[in-house]
Amino acid sequence: MLADKDRIFTNIYGFHDTSLAGARKRGLWDDTKRLIDKGHDWIINEVKASGLRGRGGAGFPTGLKWSFMPKNDPRPSYLVVNGDESEPGSCKDREILRHDPHHLVEGCLLASFAMRAHTCFVYIRGEFIREREALERAVKEAYDARLIGKNNIHGWDFDLVVHHGAGAYICGEETALLESLEGKKGQPRLKPPFPANTGLYGSPTTVNNVESIAVVPTILRRGSAWFSGIGRPNNTGTKLFQISGHVNKPCVVEEAMSIPLRELLEKHAGGVRGGWDNLLAVIPGGSSMPCIAAGDCQELLMDFDSMSALKSGLGTAAVIVMDKSTDIIKAFARIAYFYKHESCGQCTPCREGVAWIWRLMERMSKGEAEKSEIDLLFNVTKQVEGHTICAFGEGAVWPIQGFLRNFRTVIEERIDHRIAAEAREAAE
Ligand code: SF4
Repeated sequence: MLADKDRIFTNIYGFHDTSLAGARKRGLWDDTKRLIDKGHDWIINEVKASGLRGRGGAGFPTGLKWSFMPKNDPRPSYLVVNGDESEPGSCKDREILRHDPHHLVEGCLLASFAMRAHTCFVYIRGEFIREREALERAVKEAYDARLIGKNNIHGWDFDLVVHHGAGAYICGEETALLESLEGKKGQPRLKPPFPANTGLYGSPTTVNNVESIAVVPTILRRGSAWFSGIGRPNNTGTKLFQISGHVNKPCVVEEAMSIPLRELLEKHAGGVRGGWDNLLAVIPGGSSMPCIAAGDCQELLMDFDSMSALKSGLGTAAVIVMDKSTDIIKAFARIAYFYKHESCGQCTPCREGVAWIWRLMERMSKGEAEKSEIDLLFNVTKQVEGHTICAFGEGAVWPIQGFLRNFRTVIEERIDHRIAAEAREAAE
């Protein structure tokens, strides 16, 4: 369990002063110039050495991503922070934005400096009205105190622009986000070229998640060795876990990476409703990650490597808990509906395939499918996966694949039940 002294977000529940004065009392903006004076490469190397992996879902090493930015390019460089947070189950960036926004503002300055960017955009989810207002307040305070802006006290001219989205899930995909920022329809771009080469306004751009940037000031102050000493190799640091669904006390909590799932649920979320033995399955990282059945949850560690060993993913570490009262087919039909609704429609396999999957899942939830359609469903998910412009295709079909791997017998039983009921009716 993470010791209080190792917590990065000490005001995540908003119990303390969220203003600049409060943030300063908690150690933020403390001699930031000293960190900047160590140079661009020192910051990148520290973040690399910390082992920080992106907190937005993909888990790509953050320092390595930063090192892809060109050093001597005549075009301006940009940092874009992804605060779109639209994945069902995910609700951690929201807490940073509304209760601890100076972590992010200071992180934006430091990360932008490391990548030689003088401008950073924070893209906020359309529904996050209060969160946007809280961040704007923090940004204004930082400008007023000359912590950022032109001729600021840190010697690196830096502008921070808060941009409010319009509430489309796909704008959380980094290139759709850039399109949206440019004022266009939020549709993903083909890659390559990657944003580090051709991003916002055709210039070198790095897109990072809110949490990934917000942890940077503390990593630099406390040192990469401190951060990498938490968790286990390749899965280092602290992480904001979000626990929802069938637990007694849903919550967002900062914990050490690699904490066992059972400990996470029982120490922080009051345990599974009805007790551990009442667990049916968890979705470990937001709705696009394949579910894990209760049988595999006993020793499960909450980190990147444990999840991939079970063909799932840590994603945003948004743990959705389902107890045995769950109609698991209906639950995944509902998730399929979400992805059908949010597809941007550019690629045929995604636009048509995900809608087809949803319709079949609806029939399956009523037992109205044929058993042969179970394999057909799996095959269709394979025809979407890897055949689309962006990773939305994978995000839409992985939950279905995980569901089929773990709960095929539930579908078969429901079909048998329907056939038996029809036979009884015919006999009457
Ligand atoms: Fe749009 Fe789906 Fe294609 Fe992504 S995979 S570009 S969301 S149609």
